[in-house]
Amino acid sequence: MPTDKLHQLTIHEAHMLLKQRRISSLDLTKSVLKRIVEIEEKVQACVTIAEDVALKEAEKADSYIKTAHEITPLAGIPTLIKDVICTKGIRTTCSSKMLENFIPPYDATVMEKLKAQRAIIIGKTNMDEFAMGSSTEHSAFFPTHNPWDLRRVPGGSSGGSAAAVAADETIYALGSDTGGSIRQPAGFCSVVGLKPTYGRVSRFGLVAFASSLDQIGPITKDVTDCALVMNAIAGHDSRDSTSVPHPVPDYTQQLIPDIKGLRIGVPQEYLLEDMQDEVKAAFEAAVDKLHELGAEIDWGVSLPHTKYALAAYYILAPSEASANLARYDGVKYGFSERDASNVIETTERTRQFGFGAEVKRRIMLGTYALSAGYYDAYYLKAQKVRALIKQEFDQAFEKYSALVTPTSPTVPFKLGEKLEDPMQMYLNDVCTLPVNIAGIPAISVPAGFADNLPIGMQIIGKPFSEETLLRIAFAYEQATDWHNRKPPLL
Ligand code: GLN
Repeated sequence: MPTDKLHQLTIHEAHMLLKQRRISSLDLTKSVLKRIVEIEEKVQACVTIAEDVALKEAEKADSYIKTAHEITPLAGIPTLIKDVICTKGIRTTCSSKMLENFIPPYDATVMEKLKAQRAIIIGKTNMDEFAMGSSTEHSAFFPTHNPWDLRRVPGGSSGGSAAAVAADETIYALGSDTGGSIRQPAGFCSVVGLKPTYGRVSRFGLVAFASSLDQIGPITKDVTDCALVMNAIAGHDSRDSTSVPHPVPDYTQQLIPDIKGLRIGVPQEYLLEDMQDEVKAAFEAAVDKLHELGAEIDWGVSLPHTKYALAAYYILAPSEASANLARYDGVKYGFSERDASNVIETTERTRQFGFGAEVKRRIMLGTYALSAGYYDAYYLKAQKVRALIKQEFDQAFEKYSALVTPTSPTVPFKLGEKLEDPMQMYLNDVCTLPVNIAGIPAISVPAGFADNLPIGMQIIGKPFSEETLLRIAFAYEQATDWHNRKPPLL
């Protein structure tokens, strides 16, 4: 492999070559950094590039690889991290003016785990401010562009991570998902994205948006890589009381191209009336493929409470956000507007100038929903809807190994198209957010194109069924070639 093409490798390919000492981590890291320099002007996926640290760590990884008997699967391999995950010594902004100069004094647990494997952290990716959005246009810095069509959005909020993986600016990335922020951008950029079961991956060091919904997960070039990253980041953490002490399986064990006999359901409520025709057609073809591969398909599944999920989410997530974001007061850390005559004015002005419009909208929605007199009508009711949605999924999983849906109702939309209409933006998450409400896992895999614009299929499972989801995704991937296509960049 020519050294200037190394950035195109997957994790498992790079690992093999590193293990056989046919490439070095330094060459691989340099190739990725060069790729970033070449195309960042067009894609704008990154907020921070930690070039010096990355090169130093790559050299260290090379000396480890030279002497080690067995090397860890992520050793010496470069990664980009969504800028909502705390990285010790590397700026973590949440793409907000509020944290523009915040350098965390500690690592998130997932970062410790990646570093324990000697992964190479090359930088941080752009996102919607505090992960609120579906297009990465709510970044306080700049919007990210979709590598498949630079006039279009990469999805969000992990749009920087997904665009970077699709454009080979990294070998893999981490994202976070509160209502679809890993899966929707993965679908929009034709890469693989997994939202793990709530509690599977530690949230320690993930800047909180909506704590009962947030999860960190992998964004990768293929399903095998997704399993490898899950192996590295999953597991119990005493510093996150919501993480679950279940043993972590080897997620690569079930990667067999065989889904014979698995029962897969298609919930009707996800095939919305106003879904784009090409998305529906690609999705139906993907389900036919699963059938060809031996799965039993039930097209008639019904989850009637799905229609309340969007409304419930936009009460629950803003409510939690309004509480979580109270910490940005201009005193403890981050941006502080000092041009004020007293402490109340400092807080007011800090929040007025430090937060963007979408974040303020969420804080206002959440504060209203939680206020005395409205609490029962909004927050409490949304919690009841949440229980019903969860129950409905539980019942479906008594019969089915997995449910499949399109990841989003449309292909990537144009930059600016939904920016002035928050409701249209929110509607793009209609297929992904019920999964967060129920706390269950789901993966998005490349499932076709319409006019060269990517379409994703979402596979949903019961709690801790990531292995089954990866198995179905792997079988589908092996039988199709969507994941091998590259965006028409350079
Ligand atoms: N787009 C959804 C929102 O704006 C989900 C975001 C996310 O998953 N972080 O809330």
